[in-house]
Amino acid sequence: MAEHTPRRNIETWAHELPASFIECRTMGHRWEPHSAVWDKQARAYHVIHECDRCHTQRKAWWSRNGEITSAGYSYPEGYLTKDVGYIGADGRGVLRTEYLARVFTATASRGTGNGNAPRTS
Ligand SMILES: [Zn+2]
Repeated sequence: MAEHTPRRNIETWAHELPASFIECRTMGHRWEPHSAVWDKQARAYHVIHECDRCHTQRKAWWSRNGEITSAGYSYPEGYLTKDVGYIGADGRGVLRTEYLARVFTATASRGTGNGNAPRTS
């Protein structure tokens, strides 16, 4: 607790996030691939899901009956919000705005130079 990390503006933070993080934070992770391996010693399945977009991993132990006995996530560098605090409804709105700007503005502006724009003749 030695130093106080200053809070960053959430718009600035969202603007600097990789597009994959924006997509996962807006729409949830895409859990693929996944694996389940029976562990004799633990007498449980070690179930690992990985997001193929941002590479967050969800690791859990599932009993033979399907009960989850422990679970945890490991996030890629930069995914967690150390310096912007909790992302509430406003923050999620900012992320969605950023998502729209990244995903759709990029596609729309591509039409102007290289002949991809729909034509009416
Ligand atoms: Zn993800």
